[in-house]
Amino acid sequence: MSDNITKKLFCNFCGANDSVKNPTITNNKTSICKNCTDAAYKIFNNIPIKNKMNKTDDFKIKSPKELKSILDRYIIGQDEAKKSLCVAVYNHYKRVFDKTEDDTKLSKSNVLLLGPTGSGKTLFAQTIAKYLDLPLAIADATSLTEAGYVGDDVENVITRLLVASNGDIQKAQKGIIFIDEIDKIARLGENRSITRDVSGEGVQQALLKIIEGSVVNVPPKGGRKHPAGELIQIDTTDILFICGGAFDGLEDIILKREGGNNLGFNQKKFSDIQKDELLKDVEPDDLIKYGLIPELIGRLHLFAVLKKITIDDMVTILKKPKNALIKQYKKLFALDKIKLEFNDEAISQIANIANERKTGARGLRSVMEAIMLDLMFELPNIKEKNLKITKKYILEKIKNKEENVFR
Ligand code: ADP
Repeated sequence: MSDNITKKLFCNFCGANDSVKNPTITNNKTSICKNCTDAAYKIFNNIPIKNKMNKTDDFKIKSPKELKSILDRYIIGQDEAKKSLCVAVYNHYKRVFDKTEDDTKLSKSNVLLLGPTGSGKTLFAQTIAKYLDLPLAIADATSLTEAGYVGDDVENVITRLLVASNGDIQKAQKGIIFIDEIDKIARLGENRSITRDVSGEGVQQALLKIIEGSVVNVPPKGGRKHPAGELIQIDTTDILFICGGAFDGLEDIILKREGGNNLGFNQKKFSDIQKDELLKDVEPDDLIKYGLIPELIGRLHLFAVLKKITIDDMVTILKKPKNALIKQYKKLFALDKIKLEFNDEAISQIANIANERKTGARGLRSVMEAIMLDLMFELPNIKEKNLKITKKYILEKIKNKEENVFR
């Protein structure tokens, strides 16, 4: 385990964390930071104190409803997950900015998003970070290693957050870290056949340290630590961690716990709807059986389940969100004074092709790119002022592309 993780120190007067910019001294019972000693000096010497606003004081917590209405503009469906996540985010930042002086301390909560590839887990984290103006770092759990091993240290994720905050330590300490594919670092369980040579337990332990809240020393500009290099201390206590994973096969564990075919599911393979239904019942024990360590599960207080994206969802995703792909292409063409249209049959065809790729809504972009490439290439010189994309055109383009690939 890394020795860079030490017990956190914070000012007992203002609650600020010990940092290079605002160091804290302690007599082991009480601590005070430089800002507070400076203020005390001014008070004792009758020097007026300028009311310098901390950047993070500008932060306005949005209510769960407000947050959800923002998510609704960009994310289709996933209503239950949206609600849970909005409540979790609201509670998290209420705790972070809680200034009340009583004994009830709100405990840190982090989130686990369970849902198949391309169901919107990353999009959730990105949308929340963007609209709350919080820095975001995204990491893939499979690329992480324990500190000291060759690879991407868990602590490098914190450096990435610092970079996303333009070096503003206070901002980084209240940012969001999204760790994707957390299911892929599960311990090898009895019935699980993961073709990975090492168990992810060490990485889980390293993640646990930063998720539960600790002070991590990171190099200011990223890269590997140098013995003589300057290090910045980042306290992870107020960082919101959102973990995501597809958890293939978890439904078997849940079904077994629930007593086999209580729900009327007695076949070996579940339909997507049955899987979604089972996942809604997920409990911490199921995830422990799956191979996540109990301590880590204990730090992920909220589970939100995202459903598999259906073909109908894909049609809506193509048309409805504020930055829907079809809207974006229409705009690109409109800038060249061309009116671009897709008929309904064409849109369904795009959704069907993307669905066959089995990567959820993620497939939509690449299908659209394949269809639109030739037109985009010709764009400034196209004479036709009204273009209609039809199913026939789509099938031709996709067929040509596949022939080119296999030629
Ligand atoms: P995941 O992290 O679950 O694998 P992503 O969030 O990366 O999936 O989704 C990939 C892309 O698919 C997103 O960038 C977005 O364009 C689209 N997408 C996925 N789910 C949704 C959704 N529910 N609503 C709108 N777009 C979605």
